[in-house]
Amino acid sequence: MLTKMKLKKGDTVIVNTGAEKGKKGTILDIDRKTGKVTVKDINVRTKHVKARKQGQESGIIKVEGPIYASKVSYFCDKCGKGVRLGVKVNEDGTKSRYCKSCNEMK
Ligand SMILES: [Zn+2]
Repeated sequence: MLTKMKLKKGDTVIVNTGAEKGKKGTILDIDRKTGKVTVKDINVRTKHVKARKQGQESGIIKVEGPIYASKVSYFCDKCGKGVRLGVKVNEDGTKSRYCKSCNEMK
């Protein structure tokens, strides 16, 4: 079942659950098919890169793994916490998002 995701790329979100609960980050990518989001500095996996040729540097690179959108909430600056977003349909048919806690438009 597809859930309607109200989050957008560039939103700041806070993690609700798991080992990284309380961490904040910016959404880098959204996969609406799987319902997952990729958030900067959240669920980071390190990959070891080996030098293949002499003189090449080996090292560790960091890659963010996608997490379920249900594990994060939109972070409202005004409320200072993770909130639920509502959607209002405007008179011209466009949609606007708002914070359900403080009613500020997002
Ligand atoms: Zn708010």
